[in-house]
Amino acid sequence: MDNELTYVAVARDLWRAQREGTAGIARRQARRLATLVAHARARSPYYRRLYADLPAQGWKLGDLPPTTKPELMAAFEDWLTDPAITRADIEAFIADPARVGEPYRDGLFVCTTSGTTGHPGLFVHDRRVVEVYRAMTIVRLDLGWFSPLDWVTLVRRGLRWAAIVGTGAHFAATGWVEFERHRNPLYRRAFRTFSVQQPLAELVAALNAFDPALVSSYPSALELLAEEQLAGRLRIRPIMLETGGESMAAAARAQVAAAFGGPVHDVYGSTEFEMIAVDCRAGWLHVNSDWVVLEPVDAALQPTPPGRPSHTVLLTNLADRIQPIIRYDLGDSVLQAPGPCPCGSPFLVIQVEGRRDDVLRLPARDGRIVAVVPLAIGAALEATRGVHRGQLVQTGPAVIRVRVEPEPGADAEVVWAAVLGNLRAYLVDQGLENVELIRADEPPAQDPTSGKFREVIAAPDASPARG
Ligand SMILES: [Zn+2]
Repeated sequence: MDNELTYVAVARDLWRAQREGTAGIARRQARRLATLVAHARARSPYYRRLYADLPAQGWKLGDLPPTTKPELMAAFEDWLTDPAITRADIEAFIADPARVGEPYRDGLFVCTTSGTTGHPGLFVHDRRVVEVYRAMTIVRLDLGWFSPLDWVTLVRRGLRWAAIVGTGAHFAATGWVEFERHRNPLYRRAFRTFSVQQPLAELVAALNAFDPALVSSYPSALELLAEEQLAGRLRIRPIMLETGGESMAAAARAQVAAAFGGPVHDVYGSTEFEMIAVDCRAGWLHVNSDWVVLEPVDAALQPTPPGRPSHTVLLTNLADRIQPIIRYDLGDSVLQAPGPCPCGSPFLVIQVEGRRDDVLRLPARDGRIVAVVPLAIGAALEATRGVHRGQLVQTGPAVIRVRVEPEPGADAEVVWAAVLGNLRAYLVDQGLENVELIRADEPPAQDPTSGKFREVIAAPDASPARG
């Protein structure tokens, strides 16, 4: 089927699903799940084994065994439904940062992550899921968030969109923007990624020059940029700010909105499914449940009742056939609303207790305090080859303890030297060459209170006062 036709067909179906309400959404979800499971059993040796005892008909979603990233990654080529795609070939593609956004093979979108669990993953999105993302962006995000007047303003300002994200590797966020720029000359002019890893003053200057109408970034980065805007160094006029990747406190959201004079909207996404949920005026997230199944569960992977935060959440991507993601343990804590959304939406309604890494405030040699965005310094760690899991703990005003767990089979000394090189280069770029990096003997560890894995941690009292 022609690409453009698929896209229009998906958009029309998205529109119909929300018009038809809960029954229409449930019907689509059930039909797509049955097709996906049949496809996975027929084409993926991994799922054929996993579902060996499952009857051909009459099973329920809860009968399907849950999956995890480490298990799936260990069986990578068996997991995929296309035997022509090899791990070595994808790894060679991913190893070249110059190819970020380039379609892989026949229009596939490939990206990598270490994710919230700290285990690296390789993800292949087929053309179907790419069209679903594109159609969803228009129907569920743009048409949901922008008024007709917003559209006029957007067009007048050249649709300029600044995505301030982790760059330098095939991460999902930067990869998707570059993928869209790759296919369309209009997007190539209008969309731009800005590295969140660059020094704040450079980022501010680049944003002033670009003058975006839309800004997307992590909450911690938006908070720092709001400080710059209030101080008068940053002078941009976004009509809306989009955020994701971390959770954002209500007070911080209000501060960012006030600093820029535009609303802050949330997207809950992951590398496994880019647009799991989109927020509404009532402040809840609507799950795109016609194309994704989200099951909040407890530590024993049993359903968590509405109104209570879950231990983790199982994700099923109903669109992607090439790398089936079915009842996949995503690691996030999600709270399902006890009832329907006050706004009247028919979709599953949630809040996400997302990842909460800390902003590090480190003193430069000249006494200035430099704020470091956790996802930026985390990206320097994650982009290092051979790192299975890493963690950065600020233990003194200018001391960071580095915990590294190498990939199985990797030489720990070689990996450490590469980690040190990348972190050092990042810190030098920020004017923080004086910050000491200490190699920890202990491996990365979960937070003893929440049980969650955090990648960047400012130990209490380690950070100097805000300057
Ligand atoms: Zn709502």
